[in-house]
Amino acid sequence: MRIIFFLIFFLFCYAFLKSLTRSIFFGGGERRRVGKRRDREEERPLAYDELVKDPVCGVYIAKRDAIRLKYKGSILYFCSISCRDEFLKGNKG
Ligand SMILES: [Zn+2]
Repeated sequence: MRIIFFLIFFLFCYAFLKSLTRSIFFGGGERRRVGKRRDREEERPLAYDELVKDPVCGVYIAKRDAIRLKYKGSILYFCSISCRDEFLKGNKG
């Protein structure tokens, strides 16, 4: 059984080296996935680190720590549950 495993491994290596040498010698002229475009999204800030403003007390908090409330199709962020409750009180009358 080891021979089969070795053969599979060998074929895999052979195929890999073949594609590697082809891309080197022929400059990736094949219709394979050579020259795949990659967008640079490394410097894109994470949404979690965004700061959001509490509409009740006006404090800025990190989005990940904020208390969320769906209100009229948009999401509002609050620094605490009491602020959220206050907002709901004020908007209900
Ligand atoms: Zn607040």
